[in-house]
Amino acid sequence: VPGIELTTPVWTVGAIGADLGRRLGQMGLGAVGQLIAHLPSRYEREEGEAPIAELAVGTVVSARGEVTATRLAGFGRKRRFEAVLMDETGRLDLVFFNQAYLHKRIHPGQRLRVQGELRRHGELMQLANPRFELIGDDEPEAREARVRPVYPASEAVPSRQIEGAVAAVLDEALPLIEDHLSETFRHERNMPSLREAYRMVHAPADEDEPGAARRRLAYDELLLLQLGLEMRRTHLRSKLRAPALRWDEEVQQRVRARLPFELTPAQERVLGEIAGDLSGEVPTNRLIQGDVGSGKTAVALCAMLMASASGKQAALMAPTALLAEQHAASIGAMLEGSRVRVELLTGSTPAGEREALLADLDAGRIDILIGTHALLTETVRFGELGVAIIDEQHRFGVHQRARLRAKAEDEATTPHVLVMTATPIPRTLAITLFGDLDVSVIDELPPGRRGVRTRVVGRDQREKVYAFVRRLVERGGQAYVVVPTIEAEGELENLRTVLEELQSGALGGRRVAALHGRMARDERAHVMGRFRSGLIDVLVATTVIEVGVDVPNATAMVVEHADRFGLAQLHQLRGRVGRGSRASVCVLIGEPTTEEGRQRLDAMRASGDGFVLAERDFELRGPGEVFGTQQSGLAPMKVADLRRDLDLLKLARRDARAWIAASPELGRPDEALLRRRLFKAHGEDLGLGDVG
Ligand code: ADP
Ligand code: MG
Repeated sequence: VPGIELTTPVWTVGAIGADLGRRLGQMGLGAVGQLIAHLPSRYEREEGEAPIAELAVGTVVSARGEVTATRLAGFGRKRRFEAVLMDETGRLDLVFFNQAYLHKRIHPGQRLRVQGELRRHGELMQLANPRFELIGDDEPEAREARVRPVYPASEAVPSRQIEGAVAAVLDEALPLIEDHLSETFRHERNMPSLREAYRMVHAPADEDEPGAARRRLAYDELLLLQLGLEMRRTHLRSKLRAPALRWDEEVQQRVRARLPFELTPAQERVLGEIAGDLSGEVPTNRLIQGDVGSGKTAVALCAMLMASASGKQAALMAPTALLAEQHAASIGAMLEGSRVRVELLTGSTPAGEREALLADLDAGRIDILIGTHALLTETVRFGELGVAIIDEQHRFGVHQRARLRAKAEDEATTPHVLVMTATPIPRTLAITLFGDLDVSVIDELPPGRRGVRTRVVGRDQREKVYAFVRRLVERGGQAYVVVPTIEAEGELENLRTVLEELQSGALGGRRVAALHGRMARDERAHVMGRFRSGLIDVLVATTVIEVGVDVPNATAMVVEHADRFGLAQLHQLRGRVGRGSRASVCVLIGEPTTEEGRQRLDAMRASGDGFVLAERDFELRGPGEVFGTQQSGLAPMKVADLRRDLDLLKLARRDARAWIAASPELGRPDEALLRRRLFKAHGEDLGLGDVG
C-alpha cells in the first residue's frame, strides 16, 4: 500500500473506510490534511481504570467486572434496564434509562468495561447511562487516564468518529507536516514544532499539551497576517512615493479661515500628525479614530485643502450616499466663494452628468471629489490624486483601501491615504486589521457639548415617549425616530406604519417626514435640507442616518426596537444628537428577548464612551460579528481569539516587524514555505501580488 499524503482522500484510507470517508468529505474534511487541520473544540478527562472499591464519587470513572444480575424495571417514561457489576473489591449498579433493548444484549456472566460519572444512591454506588463495552476472550489492557479530544461534529459524523478517523491517520500524517519556522526561532519563543503541535492537539499526553499546541497554532495565524501587513507597509514606504503637500504659513492661514470654528486641541494635534505625514513623500497610511461628534470632518477637510493648495486632487469616500451628500453640502458651504471645486459622485449620479464629471476629473479640473464606493469603479480616473480619505472605515475593508490607492498609483507614485472611523476599534483588532496603519486619536469633543442622557424603556412607555417628543417639538426642538427596517417583517412596524401612527396621533399637526435608503437622491437631499433648516420637526428614518448625519438642533433620538440593533450601531445613532450646546436625550425602546440583547441595552445606558462600548461589543459578539469577514476583507481567525490573545498578538507583531525589516520580501530560500503559506492565506486580501 502506498503511503498517504496530506492530499490523500480520506475515503481511500482503509482504516477510515468509504462510508465514514464520504461523510467526512461532506463536512469539508475530505483530505487527510483537512482532517488533521480540524481541531478539537475542547477536551474531556477520562480517568484510568480502577478497582470498584477505589472509585471516587462525583468523578468520571472507569471500571471492569462481571455482570451478576440484570432486570427491567419501571413503567412508561421511567422504564429502565438495570445491571449489577462486580469485581473482587465491590459492587457497582448500572442503570440505563430508556434503553430497555439492552435487556437483549447484556446478560449475567458477561464481562463489561464501563465508564461514567459515579453517584451515590442511598447505599448503592451507581453509574447512570454509562458508556460500556463487552470484553471478549482476549481481555484488553486496563486503560490509563487520558485527555480525550472532542471535535466540532455534525449530525452525520459524531465527535467519536472524527476522533477515530484522526487517530487512524495521525501517525502517518504528522511526518508530512513541514514547519515554516526554524527550530531556533521556535526555541526562543518556547513553541513546539508544527508536527508536535498537531500531535498535541489530537493526542495530548496530558492536560497542558493542548494549550501549548493552541498557542503555537494561534501564533501562526497572527504571524502570517502581521507579516502580510508589514510586508505591504514596507513595500509602500520603500518603493512608492506620494506627492509632498504644502502646509506652510500661507496655506495654514487660508485653510483655517475656511473653518467656522477653532479646532480643539485634540483636532490640532491630529492635524499636526497628518500634516507631518502629508508634507513628506512617504505615502501616508493613517487611521484617524474619533468618537462620534469629535469633529473628524474638519480635520479631513484640512488635509484635502492641503492637496488643493499644492495643485493636487483629493477624494473623500463615505459609506452611504446620504453621508456623501451631506459631506458635499457642508464642505461645499465652507468653500463657498473659493476657487476649490467640489463635486459629488454616487451610484445615483445621472449618466450624462457622470460622464462630464469624469472627464473633468481626469483633466484635473475637479479639486475635491466626494462620493460613495462609486469612486472605486474602473472608469473613475483622477488627474493627480494627492489625498484619498475614507470616512467610517469599518464599512470598508482592506480591499477598498488598496483599490482607492490604486486610483492614482503607477509604478512609482501613490496618494496619501487617511481612514477615519467613529466606531472605535478595540486595540487587538486595530493591530490585527489595521496593523499597517499609523493611528491618530481625536480624544476630545468640541467645547460646549452637554452630553446625551440615555433612557431604556419598554414598549408600554411609547405613548409617554412621543408625548415628550411632541413637547420638545413645540418648543422648537427637533427629533429623530429610527425604525429597524422599511419592509414589513413579522411584528416589526415598518417605517410607514410608524410614520402614519405618529402623524395621526402623538405628533398630529407637526411636520413629520420619512427618510430611507430607497428614496431618490434629490428627494432625500430635499428632505435632509428641510430638516437641517428646521422646516421638518421629526424625521422618521431607517438606519440611513446612522453615520455622519449632522444637525445640531436635533436633540432627541428615539430608537424603536432598539434590541434589534448592534451596540456600535446604537452608539452611532445616539451620536446624531448631542451635537449642539443643548442637552440631548436618547430613548431606546425595546424589549430584548435574549440575554445578549439585554446586556447591549444595559451597556448603552451605562456608558457614552464609544471605546468602552466597542470593547463591550467585542466581548459580547466577538470579532467575527463586529467586523464580519466581508467588512474586514480578511479571513477569520480559526484558532486565535482576539479577545484573549493580546500578548500573542503583540509578540507576532514585533516578530513580523523585525522579520520584514531584515527580509522585506521573504525571498530567502529558507523562507519559501512561509512565503507560500502567507500568500495562500492573505495574498489576495492584502493585495500582495505586486509585492516583490
Ligand atoms: P464626526 O467626528 O462624528 O465625523 P463631525 O465632523 O461631523 O464629527 O463634527 C460634529 C459636529 O461638531 C459638526 O457639527 C461640526 O461642525 C462640529 N465641530 C467640529 N469641530 C468643532 C470645533 N472645533 N468646535 C466646534 N464645533 C466643531
Ligand atoms: Mg463623520
